[in-house]
Amino acid sequence: MFYRLLIIPLIMTMTVQVAVGFEPKPLPYAYDALAPVLSEESLRYHHDKHYVGYVTKLNELIVGTPFADQPIEEIILGSDRAIFNNAAQVWNHEFYFEELSPDPQPQPSGPLLVAIHRDFGSVEALKEAMNRAAADLFGSGWVWLVTNEEGELSILSTRNAGTPMRHGMIPLLALDVWEHAYYIDYRNRRADAVKELWHLIDWRVVDARYEDRS
Ligand code: MN
Repeated sequence: MFYRLLIIPLIMTMTVQVAVGFEPKPLPYAYDALAPVLSEESLRYHHDKHYVGYVTKLNELIVGTPFADQPIEEIILGSDRAIFNNAAQVWNHEFYFEELSPDPQPQPSGPLLVAIHRDFGSVEALKEAMNRAAADLFGSGWVWLVTNEEGELSILSTRNAGTPMRHGMIPLLALDVWEHAYYIDYRNRRADAVKELWHLIDWRVVDARYEDRS
């Protein structure tokens, strides 16, 4: 009897702790796999400190609120201030880490390639336009290749945690232009960091996002 009284509340407590909150996703490659474009040290800080920090903070903020059992996209669309900032940064980073690869498909293909030629003239012109947008974004934020449901492409810059979802657009490709994304490897040279990042973009992922848009 005493044994049961002790064990049952313990099991209930453990279950509640496991059920609440988001789990950080591991990087889909080794920490040193993207060097020399992104060093192991840079990725360890970016993933383990910055990204995991957003997950931890989000979990703290949503406990006991209606957001606690919502999918992250719903939180992003329905929240503001700190909850929005941390939820959007979690989503943005998962999206960003997923599109990088040590063995990337080097060019877009299929319907996305056709759309890039139609809307930007060439892949090089698209990259140059995104590089310019990254240079022009004052402070922290993201530069996105986005599409609408009709498949028309455009470039969108968002400040801080901003996301295309809040602009009614579908994100295809994200460039993280927060200083924390490049300062360890490139110091203040954001333009160089963005130019080099293209070597890691896995267009296989971007092609699939374009074909799955909805
Ligand atoms: Mn970042």
